[in-house]
Amino acid sequence: MTVRSNSAASRDIAYHLHPYTNARKNEDEGPVIIDRGEGVYVIDDQGNRYLEALAGLWCTGLGFSEERLVKAAVDQMAKLPYYHSFAQKTASPVVDLAEKIVEMTPAQLTKVFFANSGSEANDTAIKMVWYYNNALDRPEKKKIISRIKGYHGVTIAAASLTAMPYVQAGFDLPIKNIIHTGAPHYYRFAQEGESEEAFTDRLAQELEELIQSEGPDTVAAFIGEPLQGAGGVIVPPESYWPKIQAVLKKYDILLIADEVICGFGRTGQMFGSDTFGLKPDIMTLAKQLSSAYAPISAVLVSDPIYQAVADNSAKLGSFGHGYTYGAHPVAAAVALETLKIYEERKIVEQVQAVGPRLQDGLRRFEDSPIVGEVRGIGLIAAVELVADKASKAPFDPIGKVGAYFAASAQAKGVIFRNLGDTIAACPPMIITEAEIDILLDGFAAALAETEAWVA
Ligand code: PLP
Repeated sequence: MTVRSNSAASRDIAYHLHPYTNARKNEDEGPVIIDRGEGVYVIDDQGNRYLEALAGLWCTGLGFSEERLVKAAVDQMAKLPYYHSFAQKTASPVVDLAEKIVEMTPAQLTKVFFANSGSEANDTAIKMVWYYNNALDRPEKKKIISRIKGYHGVTIAAASLTAMPYVQAGFDLPIKNIIHTGAPHYYRFAQEGESEEAFTDRLAQELEELIQSEGPDTVAAFIGEPLQGAGGVIVPPESYWPKIQAVLKKYDILLIADEVICGFGRTGQMFGSDTFGLKPDIMTLAKQLSSAYAPISAVLVSDPIYQAVADNSAKLGSFGHGYTYGAHPVAAAVALETLKIYEERKIVEQVQAVGPRLQDGLRRFEDSPIVGEVRGIGLIAAVELVADKASKAPFDPIGKVGAYFAASAQAKGVIFRNLGDTIAACPPMIITEAEIDILLDGFAAALAETEAWVA
């Protein structure tokens, strides 16, 4: 592509350093500039329309043109555009939202802290765990376990939890006290002849061995997404979470559920914790909390954690943590309206109703010579492309074929995200069956082109 001089693309190249982008490639090719949104579609500045099959970054649950969210933001902006929650102050939509979130989430979670992003929420959760154990006079109990293929964000602590080489390479990460255990991906990590039951037994046993080798008194918490999203939409076997939680309980280790992707209906229940049977002590939320129309995230904690944090804040003079924009009244008003719409439009039932169209539709591609596994639940799914179906051998180098697929689909008007050679789909939850069929047609055409390209 030739970039026209003085165009928006050339000015982008001149001035803008993009996240998660090969900067030299952007210099050569320029960006796609998205100009507006319409339902599940976005339209670029050249007038091309794309079905957004990843809801942006797994986040615009209500699509790209929900007028009620615009109105909620405008009304709040006019009334009180900013206030904070420091030093015993707050704004009224924040109080309403706090009450609503605590009511919606599992009963053991009794208080909520607000931040602006998933990364900040997870950093806050870690600080909360450390603060809690200091309050309980357990200064050694500080290590956090996360999992291979887990994605928890990019701030310094969150990026240390995120066990993807591309997040840590070049950044002097991870920090100390973060350790990793295996991912529940049966297709990739089960041993020859191992049953699903034996696989989850082994993961629980490996976790227990890790805790014992580190010293149980040094391990504070385990963080996990109910299903791993950016790691490749890894749906755990049914027996996985009960076994993992039994080990955590045995060693008095807190469970942090990162619901940043799974939260608010995505997996066909309100939370991934409901779908997969997690009973977390801490839960982090973001993305679909406001359908991503405003940056806001939340950290829910159980009463024992709150009580220890509250006592320590009294002892030290304050809970010394908070963001200028955390508990922002405009973001809170947008989130509140989002949650109202989820209820009114029965978003969980909607996901249960249309989800099978996506899951069954993608499973039709299992026969392709380059499809290794199709997986998913609710309205989140992935198709893993492989060089050899029998041996499950990946393409070399990993990611090239996935990128080709994504570019091919984009040229046909559907934006998917390739996670290496795994193609992810996570469309806005308002998607109709007819729109799912358009998504699937785009997938089929890109797959045919990719099969021909690798042949
Ligand atoms: N946790 C999960 C499960 C995520 O998928 C993400 C982002 O994709 C994050 C945390 C980080 O969120 P943010 O990009 O808002 O910092």
